Amino acid sequence: MAKHTFQTEVNQLLDLMIHSLYSNKEIFLRELVSNASDALDKLQYLTLTDEKLKNLSFTPEIHITFDNDKNILTISDNGIGMNEKDLLDNLGTIAKSGTKNFLSKLSGDKKKDSALIGQFGVGFYSAFMVASKIIVTTKKAGEKQAFAWISDGSGEFEIEKCEKETQGSEIKLYLKEEEKEFTSRYRIEEIIKKYSDHIPFPIFLHFVETKSEGEGENKKEIIEEKSEQINKASALWRVAKKDLKEEEYKEFYKNLSYDSNDPLTWIHTKVEGSLEYTTLFYIPQKAPFDLYRVDYKSGVKLYVKRVFITDDDKELLPSYLRFVKGIIDSEDLPLNVSREILQQNRILATIKSASTKKIISEIEDLAKDEEKYKNFYQEFGRCIKEGVYSDFENKEKLLELLRFPSNKSEGKEISFKTYKERMKEGQKAIYYLQGEDLELLKGSPLLETYAKKDLEVLFFSDEIDSIVMPMVGEFDKTPLRSINSKEALEDLGENAIDETTKKKFKTLLESFSKILGDEVKEVRLSTRLVEAPSCIVADPDDPNAAMMKMMKQMGAMGMGGDIPEPKPILELNPNHSILSKLLLSNDEAKNAEIAFLLLEEAKLLDGSKLKDVNAFVKRLNALLEKSI
Ligand code: ADP
Ligand code: MG
Repeated sequence: MAKHTFQTEVNQLLDLMIHSLYSNKEIFLRELVSNASDALDKLQYLTLTDEKLKNLSFTPEIHITFDNDKNILTISDNGIGMNEKDLLDNLGTIAKSGTKNFLSKLSGDKKKDSALIGQFGVGFYSAFMVASKIIVTTKKAGEKQAFAWISDGSGEFEIEKCEKETQGSEIKLYLKEEEKEFTSRYRIEEIIKKYSDHIPFPIFLHFVETKSEGEGENKKEIIEEKSEQINKASALWRVAKKDLKEEEYKEFYKNLSYDSNDPLTWIHTKVEGSLEYTTLFYIPQKAPFDLYRVDYKSGVKLYVKRVFITDDDKELLPSYLRFVKGIIDSEDLPLNVSREILQQNRILATIKSASTKKIISEIEDLAKDEEKYKNFYQEFGRCIKEGVYSDFENKEKLLELLRFPSNKSEGKEISFKTYKERMKEGQKAIYYLQGEDLELLKGSPLLETYAKKDLEVLFFSDEIDSIVMPMVGEFDKTPLRSINSKEALEDLGENAIDETTKKKFKTLLESFSKILGDEVKEVRLSTRLVEAPSCIVADPDDPNAAMMKMMKQMGAMGMGGDIPEPKPILELNPNHSILSKLLLSNDEAKNAEIAFLLLEEAKLLDGSKLKDVNAFVKRLNALLEKSI
């Protein structure tokens, strides 16, 4: 017998399971049945692909027995089973990042916290909500030695050798006194119907029935052991749409996703013809916690003729649709298809492409309901943007799904299509302003001319926008233009500054250039300003902020030299009174002060960092002093 201690995180988790009062403890049964089902899936797959297990004759089944007197509930399967190492790895010293994540997400709100169970792959431990002791007896398929895992959930567990005839696992729960309800035939049936009706394997419930026989003196009590199948075991996706209730779809989703919320929507499709397959996809209401992690879990399971093949293939759908949960079940793939060759499979490529179109068209439907779509977009908008970047085939459709705030949208977010419908007569482009802070964008002096001309400007303030949007180029044949660009200025037809003005300001500009030196790339007159005296714009040939960030990261990793920070172009408003006064004063020292202040002011409005904040404050104070 060997004693082991649980990993710290597991202990924390167990402590939570044991000492918190969860509102729906019954989900422990769903978790154990789902583990049994996974174990059957795994063995079924191996009997098709693994030489050593090919001769195993095997009818996948799950059995539930209970003992009302002793308060014991047992769930067993004849699936893959576990050997000693598996037990150590899976039920004790798990190093799953999900568990840590789960613990960090706990809110203290019991209802919310219990909803997180399972979503983070902590399913097995939920059994300690109802059990004071658990014994797992298990034998791995193809191996001789069976093992027992024993724990009361308080810091330690034991593993010992034992006898077991068939492969698979038996999870024996010694229920707490107050959890007696789970040794009731009807209660168990109720829970299984609710959560596990459509797992693809039969679940048998064993119970005893007492009958009386004979009359009077001869009356005898006869105890009969019986069993019945208590779930439909029909893979839900194979059932015709018309025979399925909304509730069934929803429960199936919860089983599949470990999400305790209802799905936002689902798409159930049966395709017949040259290729035959069924797909059932769900769009969740909320983004899963690992959506933006590189090691996210794929949400789609692949089946071949109802036999589970894999839930670990990130290529079944394009990666930007990784928030979609569901099932693909193909009739045409060979059953013994190895997971490795799936990648280049032509059949799967066809299914992937058709599924992608289906899902996009469902999202288009969602977009018809503004409120509903807002919720969706908040959760998954970033993924759609990734799609614009990566899915060339569906780019146009995905572009239509994007939403942005604008200088005229009054807090709402609008589509490119709406933008186009509102374009002014003769307007040549879709104008946008890109930056990291929406509030700064809204106050940018660059907007002034556009406001005056009543032109709409979209704000791209999402971090990912700076990478995706420059690639977009155009929407529905209308070019996208940053109002920061030369082209946008030319559109306004106001880039020409007349010769007299140029002459008037020549010396001042030269003096500013000299004073600011290395701080700027150029000092020039601007036609895009109305209220503000100055603004900074970027040279379109320079890398933008997002590219700089990337290059810096690469530099930090030793993948390239340091690149100098690009310098801004300072533009001055020739119609502003500060500028006209400067022309009159012609005072070098004063010019120096003002030049820096105008640059610093423009930088602040742009959201750029000041190089020397102290110097800026000093200058400002000096000026204040003079003005009082
Ligand atoms: P998850 O199912 O999300 O992986 P669980 O906590 O429910 O997390 O289970 C942990 C692991 O224990 C499983 O991944 C599996 O490897 C193993 N396991 C649990 N139950 C069984 C079972 N009945 N048969 C075989 N392995 C099991
Ligand atoms: Mg599980």
